Amino acid sequence: MTRLKEFLESGVNPEDHLDTIAMLASLDYIEKGSKRVAKAIEQELVDQRNSLKLIASENYSSLRVQMTMGNWLTDKYAEGIPFQRYYAGCQNVDDVESYAQELGKKLFNAESCTVQPHSGCDANLAAYLAILSEVIENSKVKDMGKSLMQMTHKEYEVVRQEFTKARILGMSLKDGGHLTHGFRNNFSGKLFDAYSYGVDPITERLNYDEIRAQAKEIQPHILIAGYSSYSRKVDFSIMRSIADEVGAVLLVDMAHFSGLVAGKVFEGVYDPIPYADVVTSTTHKTLRGPRGGIILSKKRFEEGLKRVCPLAQGGPLEHVIAAKAVAFEEALTKDFQNYARRIVDNAETLARHFIDEGVRVITGGTENHLMVLDVFSSYGLTGKEAEERLYRSGIIVNKNALPNDSRGVIQTSGIRIGTPAITTLDMGQNQMLDVANFIVRCLKGEDPAKIRADVQQLKARYPLYKAISLGKLCHTN
Ligand SMILES: *Cc1c(COP(=O)(O)O)cnc(C)c1O
Repeated sequence: MTRLKEFLESGVNPEDHLDTIAMLASLDYIEKGSKRVAKAIEQELVDQRNSLKLIASENYSSLRVQMTMGNWLTDKYAEGIPFQRYYAGCQNVDDVESYAQELGKKLFNAESCTVQPHSGCDANLAAYLAILSEVIENSKVKDMGKSLMQMTHKEYEVVRQEFTKARILGMSLKDGGHLTHGFRNNFSGKLFDAYSYGVDPITERLNYDEIRAQAKEIQPHILIAGYSSYSRKVDFSIMRSIADEVGAVLLVDMAHFSGLVAGKVFEGVYDPIPYADVVTSTTHKTLRGPRGGIILSKKRFEEGLKRVCPLAQGGPLEHVIAAKAVAFEEALTKDFQNYARRIVDNAETLARHFIDEGVRVITGGTENHLMVLDVFSSYGLTGKEAEERLYRSGIIVNKNALPNDSRGVIQTSGIRIGTPAITTLDMGQNQMLDVANFIVRCLKGEDPAKIRADVQQLKARYPLYKAISLGKLCHTN
């Protein structure tokens, strides 16, 4: 019997379970043509159900978001921007994309929004290129009185060389920044003259005076704020004043914490939108939407950012853009604001439990959705060993270098833990004590099988996509 048939015969009211029915029907249908793919999709649900997802950059998007991605909007080429496309027949994707833009502006209170970036990385690539076009290229264009197309090869080469001399200053990868902020094995460290700031070795926090001094010395074209593994809030009013002092454009990459901005947990000087010239983000981390990127900006950069295509991409993924609109609608609700608040409450509680257990938490705690634990000084384990041991216990985290980590980025001395996903499952303060206990028991060397059983017992009380029952393919688990 198919999954769908089994479900419908269980006596449920179909109207109440359209999401489940749609998902079961698609699995049944995919399986008819592609057994192997259907099995991987189904097995992923089994695995996500059986494990505790503590990866700080992951979440569980709604089934509505997921379904919105799986349809014929993917078949439409829509290079250009809404109502100004290169190909005909874009009336429906124009409608969806302009709606997503409007919602993005409303959600973040931004002057301008583009929803075309395929990912957080692409959003940063497009943002850098658009900013540098504005601040480097446009002045040359004015000086020469010629557009890029009218320049001779030699003239254009002068402009292009200026681009490669562009200086960017962002948080270093090893202290919690992202690869796209100037890491040498990323486009940002290859195309630009990239510099980085770190955290203070004692407090393990940003030292704004230090950043200011560095910025004065380097005179960056773009000052970048934002992080992937830093557990403290950033004061964007100070970053703005530093950018102003050196004449830099301020770009904030809120990939990790955009859900906390949308949910109004980060307000005032901790909300980057009023302070930054350009703000980039993913849509799939705390924001809980489809895998993708967005760029918000002040009016000054609006024109440049309309050109994500051709600057950095070709045709936008309109099926994903439609899902971004659905996710923004969800994020505009009171429920989402409560969710965002609970992510941070849970993280604070979890960090407190670790500290009570004598675990060294970097910076002494957290003010956002994540924390970094020093597992080497606490348990004599490298981050890699801790990650593997936790994985065997059904707990999914990632190893993470600590500031000034002597064990490098492959072994590391730490792990990063985040609460966005387990908060989506509705876990609260009491469950954080369980989660901390599982991790501490595991790192102290208790039998992983025993912990795994306890993890599954907890997870069974917080089911993922509750009504979806699984078919025959994965019943070995
Ligand atoms: C995750 C992340 C990105 C990249 O996002 P992808 O969608 O994986 O490309 C960029 N910047 C920061 C700060 C991030 O944390």
